[in-house]
Amino acid sequence: MSEHDDVSGSSPWTPSHDEWTALLDGEPKYRLDQLWRGLYQEQLEPEQISTLPKSLRHRIAEQFTPSLTLSARQAADNGKTIKWLWTLPDGPRIETVLMHYDRRSTVCVSSQAGCAMACGFCATGQAGYERHLSVGEILEQVVAAQRQATEDDSRLSNVVFMGMGEPMANYDKVVESVRRLITDVGIGARKITVSTVGLAPQMRRLADEGLQVGLALSLHAANDDLRTELVPVNKRHPIDELIDCCRHYKQSTGRRVSLEWAMIDGVNDRDSDADELAIVARRAHAHVNLIPLNPTPGWPTVGTPPDRIAAFARRLTDRGANATVRANRGTDIDAACGQLAGAAAGTNTGQQAVTLRPPRRPDKHST
Ligand code: SAH
Repeated sequence: MSEHDDVSGSSPWTPSHDEWTALLDGEPKYRLDQLWRGLYQEQLEPEQISTLPKSLRHRIAEQFTPSLTLSARQAADNGKTIKWLWTLPDGPRIETVLMHYDRRSTVCVSSQAGCAMACGFCATGQAGYERHLSVGEILEQVVAAQRQATEDDSRLSNVVFMGMGEPMANYDKVVESVRRLITDVGIGARKITVSTVGLAPQMRRLADEGLQVGLALSLHAANDDLRTELVPVNKRHPIDELIDCCRHYKQSTGRRVSLEWAMIDGVNDRDSDADELAIVARRAHAHVNLIPLNPTPGWPTVGTPPDRIAAFARRLTDRGANATVRANRGTDIDAACGQLAGAAAGTNTGQQAVTLRPPRRPDKHST
């Protein structure tokens, strides 16, 4: 647990229903219902919940203030992708991305400010770790996205923990947030996906929580040498162990794990990579999601071109693995996968959040 863990427990979305019941002790029960409706159905801050008497509103607002202060907002893809940069009460910055698809929307939330996993191709990994997010800080991102989705004539249907941070490193807060998303926000468990770099013990724990949430494993390489190069934590939890975790997840929840594979030109997109991946995917009873690597400032390699991604996907399917190719969103506003770095053009007040360091370039295997 981080030393900053309790810095921001004061979001109105942090207390659970039971905790609010205790906090409003002495008030008539319908006040609790009004507050709850305001927070979760109407996505209002306590100060704005006009059904509550002014004095109560003020009392709540004095003790509970939203944790996220908007620092920048950007839109791309004709308003179909929206990115927010928030500043937390103690200074760190986090990002949230909302994607609209045909009157349904998906929000990609951050679970930590920064990330300690140090994957070289990921902008958050390049910037380093700041702290865990609280339940309130995670839920507020979803509430902001719900508000926006309603405004845009859509409905927030999916939540993915694929923003900044390693969700399984902030396990307790993430699992509590997932439960609260299901019970309080009303997002179906099957519409929630937690993505991990491969922290095996937590993957096993999550499998046994009795939740039906989706689990994504950021695999990116199907042999340990290359994977350790790309995702350093692989040294601690190598591929065979992760395959076991995926099988256990499937057995325990009935849900297949999805293997995320950012296609990196000349690094993990060769025929031999597809062949290795097909074997891993079959052993893991998993599904493969392919996405071109997005460019980030601290990594020299580029994404695989679309035709080669399609060929790679075909090679996987020919070998009995399930694969889909995911479309990119928000590349031009640095809102795409792996590009979240807590900084935005023109809003970065002199403090450079992305620390460039000499790229650890993996062998290109240029034969
Ligand atoms: N720490 C978690 C979730 C955060 S990132 C995890 O690793 O799964 C969400 C996804 O984006 C992960 O699959 C991650 O590997 C991927 N990603 C990171 N940088 C990327 C980049 N530059 N291009 C494409 N995908 C990237």
